[in-house]
Amino acid sequence: MDRRQALQLVAGASAAATLPVREAITSPAHARTASVPAFTLPPLGYAFDALEPHIDAETMRVHYEQHHAAYVHELNAIAAANPSLARIPMARTLRAVDKLPESLREAVRHNMGGHWNHSFFWPLMAPGGSREPHGPLKAAIEETFGSVASLRERMGRAARERFGSGWVWLGVGAKGQLVVFSTPDQDTPHMVEDVRGAVLGIDLWEHAYYLKYNAGRDDYVSAWWRVLNWDRANETFGHLLT
Ligand code: MN
Repeated sequence: MDRRQALQLVAGASAAATLPVREAITSPAHARTASVPAFTLPPLGYAFDALEPHIDAETMRVHYEQHHAAYVHELNAIAAANPSLARIPMARTLRAVDKLPESLREAVRHNMGGHWNHSFFWPLMAPGGSREPHGPLKAAIEETFGSVASLRERMGRAARERFGSGWVWLGVGAKGQLVVFSTPDQDTPHMVEDVRGAVLGIDLWEHAYYLKYNAGRDDYVSAWWRVLNWDRANETFGHLLT
């Protein structure tokens, strides 16, 4: 490199380095009005292929980058026109979704529901999570269902009974007892009477399994237990009891 080339390199680097500063100085109005989205796509926490072979990488990518991102995008559009939605905790809005103005109700139900459900779902799956429940959750499952295998059977049945899109859940009822139930579309556990919260949830939408399992939803639901992060479930159960 000769002296002229070196000088060009320095000049180029310097121009590139100062560009953002100059932009910030000359565009203060833009900086002030640029709105931060009220709702954001949470990090997945693992690679798209981390749950292979049970959940394939392409399904994870499309599910996260397209489906979940679309719920977040739509929800932000609704919140831009209705800013109070961003100030109220999602759980409170979802619990009272039927009381929202009719013009908003279905869009919030679907998009905030979809955002909440998927944000709950991603950390519930993990490569290398513990493979069995322990402590209070293990005891509660054994007391209520007899065994983890019986719980799997019970949730598998509830999944088969959910015709079309929806979710199947293991939750905690009003009296602190474990309950299995399902919701249609993107309805969340908040919308189910006498349910305190969810411990486990399985996405039953075709987009969650179709690329790998085609119409074999049962096979997907069976395989899902292989990627379940029981550590997360144990933790969530603990919060719901306090
Ligand atoms: Mn989904």
